[in-house]
Parts: sequence; structure tokens; C-alpha cells
Amino acid sequence: MTLANTQSIVVIGAGQAGGRAVEAMRAAGFEGNIDLVGAEPHLPYERPPLSKELLAGQDIPFQVMFPAEWFAERNIALHLGRCAVEIDRKSGHVQLDDGTHLPYDRLLLATGGSARGLDIPGASLPGSHTLRTIDDSRAIAGHLARQGHIVVVGGGFIGLEIAASARIRGCAVTVLEYADRLMGRALPAEIGAIFADLHRENGVDLRLGAGIAGIEGNGRVERVITTSGDRLETNTVVVGVGIVPDTALAAAAGLTVDDGIVVDTYCRTSDPAIYAAGDLTRHYNPLLGRHTRLESWQNAQNQAIAAARNMCGAETPFAEIPWFWSDQFDVNLQVCGAPLDWNRMVMRGDIAARDGILFQRDGDAITGAIGLNRARDMRFVKRLMSSDKSPSADDLADESVALRDLLR
Ligand SMILES: Cc1cc2nc3c(=O)[nH]c(=O)nc-3n(C[C@H](O)[C@H](O)[C@H](O)COP(=O)(O)OP(=O)(O)OC[C@H]3O[C@@H](n4cnc5c(N)ncnc54)[C@H](O)[C@@H]3O)c2cc1C
Repeated sequence: MTLANTQSIVVIGAGQAGGRAVEAMRAAGFEGNIDLVGAEPHLPYERPPLSKELLAGQDIPFQVMFPAEWFAERNIALHLGRCAVEIDRKSGHVQLDDGTHLPYDRLLLATGGSARGLDIPGASLPGSHTLRTIDDSRAIAGHLARQGHIVVVGGGFIGLEIAASARIRGCAVTVLEYADRLMGRALPAEIGAIFADLHRENGVDLRLGAGIAGIEGNGRVERVITTSGDRLETNTVVVGVGIVPDTALAAAAGLTVDDGIVVDTYCRTSDPAIYAAGDLTRHYNPLLGRHTRLESWQNAQNQAIAAARNMCGAETPFAEIPWFWSDQFDVNLQVCGAPLDWNRMVMRGDIAARDGILFQRDGDAITGAIGLNRARDMRFVKRLMSSDKSPSADDLADESVALRDLLR
């Protein structure tokens, strides 16, 4: 399909969302020009292995989503290692940092986010890292291979995955988490406590209610000073305290930004010629009944596909139950939904034994579910939550009732 008035599409951001979007544009039959601009020198790739297999030293190769020939065969022009520095909405051009101007009829913003840094003394000393890119992952993996002491700042998903991978590599690991529980932004205290036990059992020195006050060293990291004044000797610090959505280009171009580029259910920004997808969007999710900004593999993939189709003439709303996962030691964690609170919970299996599901209910509806080592069941949970079924609390808790049967 070629829209009469769309000859040229520019995609800014060659990460997961950018990669999936250009694939979906060609799959939708769009035959015009596509320019894909990426600040990293790499072809698009997915990030989940960066904190897991690739850090834990598993013998798997780094994989890109598509090889260079794939782009050539589809006539998709790649501009890698190049940053888009300005969007001129009047003339419909994107300017790159080498002065190139790319014309667009439709533009997709998929610039994701950057790892949040810390404003503390010593934060920029060599040996202090954040983790977002394959280059970050390789640099951290180099330290882990030496099996020294590593300090992880932040007890969220990324920090805890790094801690688990470092322990698997044989490093001594200290985790500093300012809050009194782990993964507290998204999950209830019960789950945080289970993961605190998991990490401690595996030898992590987990310090809750502890922050980092500074990093010291003569030309490189030598020690961390905690907020309680402890001095931790280390030559590697990894800060995992979330991301900042990369919205600067959009804001400078006058698009509506509010902790993310605001898009409607069709992934359109406040300029109908400009769409956005992935970690950087704040979108209205009709299934949740509110705006939300998600940082997850599923959202990057499926919102990008929806945006791409809509840019090519479809009118498909993007509406999905959020889902993400994390792997730490031998526990696979999966979360469906995004309830504002976990306060009406039903348990299936044995969560404390890391083999069960916690459901959050609102009236008769399931609004959230957390599965520990229940990957297979969680597939049916996702489908249940997307359906109009309202299983009873008794059926959800009863292991003799198959979740698949509740879909009938
Ligand atoms: C280490 C790690 C582990 C993860 N594990 C999981 C997991 O287990 N489960 C899960 O659900 N999710 C996980 N995620 C989250 C998931 O990977 C992200 O949600 C996803 O990568 C977001 O994709 P994106 O395309 O929106 O952004 P990104 O992947 O960040 O891609 C954006 C790209 O745009 C580029 N860019 C930015 N500005 C410009 C510019 N001006 N010009 C050109 N290019 C630009 C960036 O360099 C980047 O390459 C993980 C993330 C990380 C970092």
C-alpha cells in the first residue's frame, strides 16, 4: 500500500521499536523511501540479553534483529552512528549531525531512553557504568570477568539482573537500594521480600534503605561511600536507577511532551504527520483507562508495529494489557497489567516457594498478575486479562482448575 501523499518516511531511533517499525512498514506494502537513523553504530537489536545472558557469561552471540542485507533488500536506507539533531516541521525535514537533511511526509520518533545518571561526586570516574547499550554491556562484562567486587546502585529490575549475573560470574556483589524494598515502583512488598531472600541466598550483600553518597578514586573508581558513611572498596559501580525518555528533539519541535511524548491510541503525536513508539511514549491505554509510559520489550515491539501500520494508512488502535518479564538466578518473573495498587490479591500455587501467581482483582476483573516460574500459565493469564471473562477468586486459586479452561 502506498499512501498517495506519503512518499518518504523517516524513522529516528534504530532500536527495537525503530527496527520493528521499518519491518512492519514494508510488510504493510509501503513502497516509498524509508530512512532509519540510529545514534548507535549497530544495526537494531533487542536489549533483554544485555543484563542477563551476555553479562552472565553465557556462550551466546550478540544478535542483531536483521542483518545489513535485509535492509538493503528492502531498500531501507540506514544512517547508523548518526544523531538526528532537529526536526523542521514546516518544511518536513530532519537534520542529522553531519548536516544531512532527510525529507519526510511522515516521521516516526523511536528514540527510547537513556540510562539515568547520578549527580554525586565521582560519578564520571572510569569504572562507573550505566547499562543501556551493547557497548555498555560489553564494558561491564569485561569487569565481571575479573571476578572482583561490584557495587550495583538500584534494586529495580535492571540492577537486580546485573547483580544476579555478576554473582553467576563469581563476583562479590553489593546492592544499594534507597527504598526499603526491591522493585517497589511496580510490585507489591511481598514480591520484593521474596526477591530480597533470593538475592541474599545467592550471596548478594543486599542493603535496603542505603544510597550512594559518592565515588572516590585516583583517576578511576576505588571505593563507594554510602549514605550511611560505609566505605565499600570496589573498582566497578553499575548504576541502574531507571531511564530518562529521549524527548528533547520532540520538545524542541514543539510536540506535546509530558514524561514522554504524548500519543493517542493510534500512536500519533500532537502533529498528525509525526508518530512515536516505544519507551519514549506516554500513550492512552483504553484497557487501563489512563495514560501510561511503559518500558518493556512487548510495548516496544507492538506499539511500533501499530504505529507503522497506521503511518501506512491503517486506523488500528494500539491497546494491549502491559506485560514484561525479568530473569534473576533461577526465577522467571512475569507481570501482566499495571494496577495502581496490589491490595486485593488471590494466590495460585505457592508464591513464597517461587512457584505461583498472584492475581490482583478489581471487582470481578483481573487487573494484574505476577507469576514466578509460571511462564506457561502466564500465557493463559494474558489471554484471560484480554478477554471478557471474570473467573471467581476460588477458581483462580484452585490449581485443579486449568487456567486454559477458564477461557472457555
Ligand atoms: C539491559 C536491559 C534489559 C532489559 N530487559 C527487559 C526484559 O527482560 N523484559 C522486558 O520486557 N523489557 C526489558 N528491557 C526493556 C526493553 O529493552 C526496552 O523497553 C526497549 O529496548 C525499548 O525499545 P525502544 O526502541 O523504545 O528504545 P531503545 O531500545 O532505547 O532504542 C532507541 C534508540 O534510539 C537511538 N536514539 C536516541 N536518540 C536519537 C537521535 N536523536 N538520533 C538517532 N538515534 C537516536 C538510541 O541510541 C537507541 O539506539 C530491557 C532493557 C534494558 C536496557
